Amino acid sequence: MTTPASSKLVLLGPPGAGKGTQAELLSARLGTPHISTGDMLRSEISQGTALGVRAKGFMDKGELVPDDLMLGIVRQRLARMDCNEGFVLDGFPRSVPQAVSLDDICGGASPGKLRALSLDVPTDELVRRLTERRTCRKCGAMYHLTFEPPKRPGICDKCGGDLYQRDDDREEIIAARLEVYRKETAPLLTFYRERSALVEVQGTGATEQVFRRVVASLGVPA
Ligand code: ADP
Ligand code: ADP
Ligand code: ZN
Repeated sequence: MTTPASSKLVLLGPPGAGKGTQAELLSARLGTPHISTGDMLRSEISQGTALGVRAKGFMDKGELVPDDLMLGIVRQRLARMDCNEGFVLDGFPRSVPQAVSLDDICGGASPGKLRALSLDVPTDELVRRLTERRTCRKCGAMYHLTFEPPKRPGICDKCGGDLYQRDDDREEIIAARLEVYRKETAPLLTFYRERSALVEVQGTGATEQVFRRVVASLGVPA
């Protein structure tokens, strides 16, 4: 008998690949929570918590927040009841040590337990997506000035909150983040491939088109 594929998913891909966008759609389709470590950190920063203050220095430079800080918040979040049936984890793991820790938490990556979905997008397209990304200050919803513009400029369609450009979405910080991805996060593709738990999807084309590919590759029922 084959084990059913797990609804515990992690999304991999460089900054701007569309992880947040696809995670939101997948979460709605699967009925599992979308957990974005970037959103969690930005919320800690806006609340002025000690964790937020420590994380901000790293985030502003485009560097990774240290593993011990990340593990604390991820462990707590995954322990909540709404994760029992699965989750869509966006932005974690971002390094091999983080993936090893997630294995400890979830009992190891394998097609039946935890799968990684990787979105592949060429660098010039990533830069185009990131420089024009706008984020809602209130609900975290994402827009793109050209590809997914809000109905009213500067205002979130979903909650009326104001849209801003993240400090780390400026061109010089984007370059640093892409380099961090290449060095620290890209090795995770091999990590999950070796466990037969990697699903690779081309992330170019319109959002809906990418989502259709994602759903088909994961074998999610329509
Ligand atoms: P990530 O979470 O991987 O950094 P996002 O989901 O935030 O990526 O997407 C980055 C930017 O690109 C956002 O402005 C988003 O609206 C836009 N975007 C996402 N998917 C697509 C797509 N398929 N085509 C064009 N723009 C996209
Ligand atoms: P993007 O999707 O554009 O790559 P995120 O919102 O996921 O950006 O992350 C923004 C920043 O938050 C990262 O550049 C990093 O500083 C920090 N961060 C988020 N998740 C992690 C993580 N798992 N480990 C370390 N740092 C993280
Ligand atoms: Zn909003």
